[in-house]
Amino acid sequence: MRRVVALGAALGIAAFVTACGGAASTTAPSGGGEALKVVTTTTILADLVRQVGGDRVSVESLVPKGGEVHTFDPTPSDVRNVAEADLVFVNGLGLDDWLAELVTNAGTVAPVIRLAEDLEGVTYLAGTEGDEAVNPHLWLNVAYAARYAERIREALVAADPDHAADYEAGADAYTKVLADLDAKARTTLGAIPAANRTVISFHDAFPYFAAAYGLTVDGTIVDAPGQDPSAAKVAELVTVIKDKGIKAIFAEAQFNEDLVRTIADETGATVVSDLYTDSVGDAPRDTYAGMMAWNIEQVARALAGS
Ligand SMILES: [Zn+2]
Repeated sequence: MRRVVALGAALGIAAFVTACGGAASTTAPSGGGEALKVVTTTTILADLVRQVGGDRVSVESLVPKGGEVHTFDPTPSDVRNVAEADLVFVNGLGLDDWLAELVTNAGTVAPVIRLAEDLEGVTYLAGTEGDEAVNPHLWLNVAYAARYAERIREALVAADPDHAADYEAGADAYTKVLADLDAKARTTLGAIPAANRTVISFHDAFPYFAAAYGLTVDGTIVDAPGQDPSAAKVAELVTVIKDKGIKAIFAEAQFNEDLVRTIADETGATVVSDLYTDSVGDAPRDTYAGMMAWNIEQVARALAGS
């Protein structure tokens, strides 16, 4: 109930800001006209939209850099951003369902594009967290991120057909970047010895990454972000890691590493620190391509044969 009241109050603020012309300033695209105002749920989706839309889009992510999308609690300024958006991009598949309530409260009529759902050529994998029937972290397979970029292109063209050529060119160039990155991931991670390919991860973000690049994720430390594991669960993980000789545990930049360190100390497993999963980081990890290049490098180094 408290949230409903807060969002109702926020609506008033949104109306006030719009009436006063206090909308955020936008930089004018070099080709003339006004930039499309785009809101995304995560910084990763925001980067993908920027790569395709270039200076024709002005993009804001609701979850800030390093923030947690699974457990995000929107604020009045988020309602305001959604109310002013021309287009809204979400991942879908249960990752960012909180956006639906935000859209209702903002009273926006902007199209909401669900990037991960019903994509052609994707092998969907079962989810394990909360109510997720399907795991939502498709973007950690670079080839699937390219499909997000394709859907972004379609949405930008539909919203702003006068500048279709710009969006086509942006998408074409970015698709090539992603194809190179995907090839690099295959080569680099393909060199990891077979005995080192099984890992444990902090939360269940890596199944598409693992399926694409030949790794096996044999467990997660948390059942879902925000839920600390029981002592029994930790003990069970320690046994699994020892019994199977699991080489490494994937830790993530947006989560505290203490628990990972404790389990690693007990098992002798290597901690692969600072992997970026649901948010971009600081430069050079401040783009999707940058964070994936970093992830690939970190994983390859940690799992290389001794
Ligand atoms: Zn996640």
